[in-house]
Amino acid sequence: MKICSQICLIFSALFSLVANAMAAEVWYGAAKQGNVLQGQIPGVSKIVIEEQTYQADEDGNFLIAFGREAKAKQNVELILTDGTVKNVVWKIAPTQWDIQKINGLPQKKVTPSAEDQAAINDERSQVSKSLSADLRQGYWKNGFVEPLKGRISGAFGGQRVMNGRKMNSHAGVDIAAPLGTDVVAAGDGKVVMTAPNLFYSGNMITIDHGYGLQTMYAHLNKIKVKNGQMVKKGEVIAEVGQTGRVTGPHLHWGAAIKGVRFNPHSLLQLKGGENQHSVSSHDFTN
Ligand SMILES: [Zn+2]
Repeated sequence: MKICSQICLIFSALFSLVANAMAAEVWYGAAKQGNVLQGQIPGVSKIVIEEQTYQADEDGNFLIAFGREAKAKQNVELILTDGTVKNVVWKIAPTQWDIQKINGLPQKKVTPSAEDQAAINDERSQVSKSLSADLRQGYWKNGFVEPLKGRISGAFGGQRVMNGRKMNSHAGVDIAAPLGTDVVAAGDGKVVMTAPNLFYSGNMITIDHGYGLQTMYAHLNKIKVKNGQMVKKGEVIAEVGQTGRVTGPHLHWGAAIKGVRFNPHSLLQLKGGENQHSVSSHDFTN
């Protein structure tokens, strides 16, 4: 009788240990301007931050993007599966942005003519359509790799000055490599856009990784995938090119969640990625 109760005690202690371990939060990436953050909070169904709602899967896994201008303090609503709301405040670390001077661009790509406006509008609508996809598929859970190894010739978020004219900040990262070098898919997903000859982006691909996350590949030479095709992380999708607004061959790699652009290199820190980096919620909560 005594032995039994001791065994029962041990079992119940073990059970509560396992239950606590299962209920623990897990985080990858960084709560930082221009970064992606991956979380798992069992029992959470949605996260609302900066008026954007991010859906969690049935195990409470989700992704959040912090834009270049993300505020230092964010009021976050965690919506639980039973509908109750938990309010928390997160501290978003600042990022230093550089200034990128780019000279030698064809002037028509910096100050486009009225006739070019139709092509620019067409590009904007095609790209924003490809970024509005919101597949309920967790392709992103397999992690990410760099789509091309090479010199970073333009960091994400840099304030750009083109032919002496102040322009918008850089919405992706530029990786320089010789014309024709293979470009691979950064992660598993579905090709949702293959567009030829866009005014700024040249030949461009968008891949949807599910839960509102897309990656973009621009200035390509050859596109080697078709719209609607499923791709695996590391699979060749295109060749490095110099199409669109460029001064030389490079890949412009972009990433967005629900239209919020962030530094695609931060994807490598997610679980299963090339640069996997787990963090504690103490890093960004009080
Ligand atoms: Zn670029």
